[in-house]
Amino acid sequence: PLVLGIETSCDETGVGIVRGRTLLANAIASSMDEHARFGGVVPEVAARAHLEAMTPTIERALADAGVELAELDAIAVTSGPGLAGALMVGVAAAKSLSVALGKPLYAVNHLVGHVGADLLQADGLRPAIGAVGELELPTIALLVSGGHTSLLLVRDLTGDVEMLGETIDDAAGEAFDKVARLLGLPYPGGPQIDRVAADGDPQAIRFPRGLTHPKDLERHRYDFSFSGLKTSVARWVERRADAGEEIPVADVAASFREAVADVLLTKALAACADLGVPRLLLGGGVVANARVRELAAERCAAAGVELRVPPLSLCTDNGAMIASLGAQLVAAGHAPSSLDFGADSTLPVTEVQVR
Ligand code: ATP
Ligand code: MG
Ligand code: FE
Repeated sequence: PLVLGIETSCDETGVGIVRGRTLLANAIASSMDEHARFGGVVPEVAARAHLEAMTPTIERALADAGVELAELDAIAVTSGPGLAGALMVGVAAAKSLSVALGKPLYAVNHLVGHVGADLLQADGLRPAIGAVGELELPTIALLVSGGHTSLLLVRDLTGDVEMLGETIDDAAGEAFDKVARLLGLPYPGGPQIDRVAADGDPQAIRFPRGLTHPKDLERHRYDFSFSGLKTSVARWVERRADAGEEIPVADVAASFREAVADVLLTKALAACADLGVPRLLLGGGVVANARVRELAAERCAAAGVELRVPPLSLCTDNGAMIASLGAQLVAAGHAPSSLDFGADSTLPVTEVQVR
């Protein structure tokens, strides 16, 4: 099926077009620059930016794909989770298209959409690292971005997805952004930390690995916590500054990055081992992190786990992954969503499609 997908859960206005598993277009407008001076995504600013970007981004996707609206078989849209005001813009646009064109509408889950990104194929499209070829199920999926850090068990993309664990405080990308800020690096902090860390010693400082003590593992085996790590970095930097010593920014960045990568992959591979699932799929903007990818490759190879990482353009928020999930739902014979659904900022991952 030829499906157009709309994504507006955070700061990317994404419109993608797919034919089944074939990627035809992935147009994106980001309001990231507008959030820079606030050090994080401002919901009201994001929603306004989506409104302005929506029509031009839809037009760009159609032009890139060489497709007319009338040819579409269905529309898919992110219904949640995400920022309520941002989601509403995408949902309203998708409903309007659906009604005006008389096309079925599929309201889908953003997190499951990240997994759908792995299905897409196109000439010259290569995974960031890891295995090529068909995604086999079940798979463990680790989704890490500025808004979420979630570990999923995916048995069936169109209806059987389980949340194993998630962050109990900050998301990993959020921790990168906050630590960058306290090191005086600009927003978004992830790429900055990554760049600076390349010259640092990851073993220089032993920062805490949240929720990895045996007593935490009982209740939070697959959950994450990054706020203690962020505080620990802040204290360490403060102590140095108070003593009038220079801050070894590269070592702090490298040691922090190591702590995040270590805890992410320790938990993900524990899930693979416990549940006997020999596959791990990564998604979300933090996958751009060089150390996260390197450690993922090392640990997966050592554990005999197949690592899958879609191209980075499909790891960050985008409309093509939403179109991909929509196409799977159409192909599996699911009925479209009724037009009275809304944006659901806390949509649970078990709800792949909002009816
Ligand atoms: P959502 O959580 O709703 O998916 P988002 O906009 O936060 O939305 P992305 O755009 O996928 O998600 O990811 C952005 C996050 O990824 C930011 O927090 C950013 O700092 C982080 N990030 C980007 N590149 C890197 C990197 N090289 N290392 C670490 N973090 C990174
Ligand atoms: Mg983003
Ligand atoms: Fe996302």
